[in-house]
Amino acid sequence: ASAFGLAFDVDRDAGGAGAAPVFNKNERLAISEQRRRLPIYAHRTELLYLVEGHATTVVVGETGSGKTTQVPQYLHEAGWTQGGKLVACTQPRRVAAMTVASRVAEEMGCRLGQDVGYSIRFEDVSTPGVTRVRFCTDGVLLREMMDDPLLLKYSCVMVDEAHERSLATDVLLGLLKKIQRRRPDLRVIISSSTIEAEKMARFFDTSNVRRPRAHAEGVQQGAAPSRSPALLSVEGRTHNVQVHYLEAPASDYIQAAVETAVNIHREDLPGDILIFLTGQDECEAAVKLLDEEGRRLQRSRLKLRMQAVALYAGLPAAHQLGVFEPAPRGVRKVVVATNIAETSVTLEGTVYVIDSCFAKQRCYNPLTGLESLLIAPISKASAAQRAGRAGRVRPGHCLRLCTEGDFEQKLPATTVPEMQRSDLSGTVLQLKSLGIDNIMHFEWLAPPPAEASGWLGGWLGGRAGRRGGGVVTMIRALESLHALGALDGDARLARPLGAQMADLPLDPVLARMLLAAGQMGCTAKVLTVVAMLSVQSVWAPGGRRGVDEAKARFAVAEGDLVTYLNVWRGWEESGRSKKWAIENHVMHRSMLRAADIRNQLQAHLRRQGIKQASALEGATSFDHDEELETVRKALAAGMFINAAKLTEELTVKLSDQADTGASVYRLVRSAGGSAAAVKLRIHHSSVLFRCRPQWVCFYAAEQNDSGWYEMRDVLAIESGWLTELAGHVYKMVPLNPQMRR
Ligand code: ADP
Ligand code: MG
Repeated sequence: ASAFGLAFDVDRDAGGAGAAPVFNKNERLAISEQRRRLPIYAHRTELLYLVEGHATTVVVGETGSGKTTQVPQYLHEAGWTQGGKLVACTQPRRVAAMTVASRVAEEMGCRLGQDVGYSIRFEDVSTPGVTRVRFCTDGVLLREMMDDPLLLKYSCVMVDEAHERSLATDVLLGLLKKIQRRRPDLRVIISSSTIEAEKMARFFDTSNVRRPRAHAEGVQQGAAPSRSPALLSVEGRTHNVQVHYLEAPASDYIQAAVETAVNIHREDLPGDILIFLTGQDECEAAVKLLDEEGRRLQRSRLKLRMQAVALYAGLPAAHQLGVFEPAPRGVRKVVVATNIAETSVTLEGTVYVIDSCFAKQRCYNPLTGLESLLIAPISKASAAQRAGRAGRVRPGHCLRLCTEGDFEQKLPATTVPEMQRSDLSGTVLQLKSLGIDNIMHFEWLAPPPAEASGWLGGWLGGRAGRRGGGVVTMIRALESLHALGALDGDARLARPLGAQMADLPLDPVLARMLLAAGQMGCTAKVLTVVAMLSVQSVWAPGGRRGVDEAKARFAVAEGDLVTYLNVWRGWEESGRSKKWAIENHVMHRSMLRAADIRNQLQAHLRRQGIKQASALEGATSFDHDEELETVRKALAAGMFINAAKLTEELTVKLSDQADTGASVYRLVRSAGGSAAAVKLRIHHSSVLFRCRPQWVCFYAAEQNDSGWYEMRDVLAIESGWLTELAGHVYKMVPLNPQMRR
């Protein structure tokens, strides 16, 4: 055991035939030779033959076999991009789309954005007419369907990492199946893990379905491919990864991860380290701790210097790409990542993976209609993926920060598909705008959850017939879209509002805010707020005290969303200075990303012809009080569904000292039932944590271990606004008997 009290012992000779792994940069093979050595290369001809003859091909292969980087290139080389068509390869995550595209560009010897490009939300690095192979997020391809419903631009669509079952992937699979009926020339390639492969193949098997008579316009006719999917299995080429467990559970996994990394570093053997934590705050906190340790260790005579970097979704793209740069000589890179580094990406040089075995996961309760983030144990399948990050280019180690017993007993085998734990209103809105009106009959790989529990489930089960899964989730989605004005009384897309909302690359709540702002003449400010809400965290990590003091400088009684406007103004007035950001405990990188998003959204609004703010409207400063009220109302026009009221009599004493006497809020909507039973309080990160506004709206909620929902991004409102802005929902406020006082 080490001086840090952790029971790991990283053997000097583990991970291979009794010798430390050998790293010799000079021995790097030429790229063409590397390509030929990938397992998938032996299957190149077979793969192309199968794709030629089958509408759908399912490719199964372990990580590292070359699916992501090679298959799109093979298709390109075989002529699938002739005649101006493109090959698309979708990824569940932005960072994967970017890094894989840049690797493939390198392999093809072209500049990124030329023959090979990528396209992620708010960023398109491709050239129309030039780009032939395009990596994109699954969500971006879905958006593209709004302009090109049959995806006529593409000859082949490869859905990569389909087994990850992201919400967008599941929707995409359903839509691709629909498109195939009208486009026999389209080829779909699914890359999936072994467990899910059969299910994918069965889903796409339409050999028993009668073909529709007429094909769509613009579709090439020709010999129709077989409509039963082909299956191709490729053996893996992963190096040996030794897994280690803790002997006793760690109480604080951030601390444990940092100590483990420092331990490895002190061994002074080469190899980068990849740490998995759950979110931006944790990653930044760990980087800070590692930096401190690194400075302390500089006095000891180690060959390598430790350099820690964070990797999470809220970073600007350029920063994310920077993390993938190889470390300079004499430097050991320690990447502290969220689960965005779990699949698809190759962090060359990673020999050690330190896994907290936790992730921030979305969960949704259809009975309360609340979506929240919850830090929960990952699945064994995810843990295996994470471990695999160590064996991409050489043998490695995976150190799991839990005991082997806990790992076996407490981690579920697989992750529940995102679709079954999400609020589906954004998805339903997209389907509606694609003209799919009967969403209850949309073909899913697996239906939304069958939540036939509780009074509502029983009630609906009786009324909606025995259609099975997903009824409540779907009805909830329809209800909130109707409340937001996106759907009319017949649940059809409302024009123009619903269509405009669907057009914006935002969730329905944020889209509604922006459009409300357009009507109320405060677009510039609401754009700022929406952009700031689209980045994960604005505040720099650090002790609560430092951040609290910094926040106090900007905080206003109207809440976090208005506070963001003050932060933005300060940053703008400083000339977007990094120094200013550091002095004010603000994350400069988050601000850069918010600025980027703000520009993109502004361009969107312009294209949609939505009224922009008058030249007189400042982006942040308020000329008079009414203006502030208008902005708050526009924000509330998107968030009113999540309105909550303080219920003083329920103030409780909680065991956690710091939270003693936290005020309890109740959801305003819904009379009785589950929603009324939800216990909410204000998250400690909110500027309203110590205030007790009577009425609030919140944008996001997190759930803690004790089942409390904690509201983040809170806006104080006046109760009268609810009836004013959403009279159709809050006609009889207060509906809830508990609030009738
Ligand atoms: P798969 O999708 O089957 O998991 P990939 O096509 O992503 O495999 O990668 C295959 C192999 O190509 C990796 O194991 C690695 O050796 C190499 N590779 C991929 N991306 C990179 C990169 N960015 N830098 C260096 N090598 C890479
Ligand atoms: Mg891959």
